[in-house]
Amino acid sequence: MSNTSAPAQENATYTPTPEGPVKTLLILGASGDLTGRLLLPGLARLVTRGRADGLKLIGAGSDSWTTENWQKRLSESFSAAREKADDDGERALQQICEHSEYHAIDVTAEGKLAELLNSLPGPVAIYFALPPAISQTACEQLRPEDVPAGTRLVMEKPFGSGEESARSLNQTLKALVPEDHIHRVDHFLGKATVFNILGLRFANRMLEPVWSNQHIEKVEIFFDEKLTVEGRSRYYDKAGALRDMIQSHLLQIMALMAINGPATIHERDLRDHVGSTLRAASIGPDFAQCTRRARYTAGTIGDRDVPNYVDEEGIDPENMTETLAEVEVSINNERWAGVPFILRSGKAVGRKRKEAVVTFKPVNHLPTGFTGADVPTRLRIGFGPDTLQLEMDVNGPGNIFSLDRAVLSAELNASDLLPYGEVLDGVLSGDPLLSVRDDIAEDCWRIVEPVLEAWARNEVPLEEYEAGSSGPSGWVTSQEDVPLES
Ligand code: NDP
Repeated sequence: MSNTSAPAQENATYTPTPEGPVKTLLILGASGDLTGRLLLPGLARLVTRGRADGLKLIGAGSDSWTTENWQKRLSESFSAAREKADDDGERALQQICEHSEYHAIDVTAEGKLAELLNSLPGPVAIYFALPPAISQTACEQLRPEDVPAGTRLVMEKPFGSGEESARSLNQTLKALVPEDHIHRVDHFLGKATVFNILGLRFANRMLEPVWSNQHIEKVEIFFDEKLTVEGRSRYYDKAGALRDMIQSHLLQIMALMAINGPATIHERDLRDHVGSTLRAASIGPDFAQCTRRARYTAGTIGDRDVPNYVDEEGIDPENMTETLAEVEVSINNERWAGVPFILRSGKAVGRKRKEAVVTFKPVNHLPTGFTGADVPTRLRIGFGPDTLQLEMDVNGPGNIFSLDRAVLSAELNASDLLPYGEVLDGVLSGDPLLSVRDDIAEDCWRIVEPVLEAWARNEVPLEEYEAGSSGPSGWVTSQEDVPLES
């Protein structure tokens, strides 16, 4: 059957607000890790592709840097993009760097941020690349009359520390600018990944009718990495795997895997669907049965010796921080009731595994006479690089009655922007499509908070696994260890 229905609109481009596109990007936390390692390289890609023409870049922070220090940092962070750029791209990088300035300010001091903001060509996007508590205080220092129309506020994760604090932060921000000028960043929601999932799900007639509890047994979403705490203990030891990864990134991916088909891929339709899916999601009440947590002990990953998590610098064992977490989420609606969505993320795991695995139910009746194992059909969507694998039963070689396994594989298209390039692209063009909406940010906390409370009451043991292993045995996700890459 051909698809004859016309799209409701040509593309997903957001209608820009009357103030026009962003003229100045103000990065607070100019000397920080996020800025140097992720934001500036992402911006550089945009600049070399002509997607940030005329943009003024301002760095600010509490360091007593000069503009020369800052420009040196820019030059270093732009180097990878410069090497790949053509002459125009190189010139554009040179220009943005030469016209960039640094301002030493304490953003928590009364009036300082407002003064800087009002001295810059607007509309301004303020990127809060700051410790979360500092971002919150900086926003509390702003008064609505300090904030010119068109200003965009870009907030990093974690967004609040619970449902209540996320709600309170939302109120602070919404007193300053409209909701669609607030960009709560989740860099997992890169355009390519989001649209690869949506395209696969909604543009294939053979998938959509079977995408429900009628035909699907379970959905698993993995983000296991070999990286350890890597010097970020100050943040990580207070966060842990559940807050750091599952509360934000994996719930967002889960929602995209589970939403009903939106009418358009415009931000309002898409985020409405994500919102209603997450509102139907919950974990519990038997936390000992539907959640698991563990932390790594000393081991080896590749040729690297990894110490005990609790012996890493800056770790307090009393925090009982988990470095690996697994939770079973229920989505209590017509489409998904009864299907577990199992989300798992961990550090210091021997095999990198970043994928969603959809396991289908067995066929209603396998004709008598076939031999061999009837293994469930599985669809795997790998993230970064985005890939697709469909595992099916076929007739075996040699004995035509014996079932064998075939895997159909494809690479999905990648974006030529880095994840933070995609984030900034949405900010600069005024499109909140890939930003986390206020209600969604609160709901993600609402879903995980009961787990955090049960863990704090010690209802679920903190298990251990050796660094470099695949995690503790006996977990739901340890049964089918077939990663896409090693
Ligand atoms: P860092 O600690 O490396 O950097 C924080 C920056 O904030 C520094 O430049 C610091 O300057 C500045 N700062 C602190 N206090 C003030 C103040 N009162 N006024 C002005 N500037 C101030 O943090 P990260 O870069 O790692 O993280 C920033 C944000 O990004 C956090 O919310 C984090 O959760 C989030 N994030 C980070 C990721 C990462 O990989 N780094 C990944 C995803 C999110 P100074 O040193 O001079 O105080």
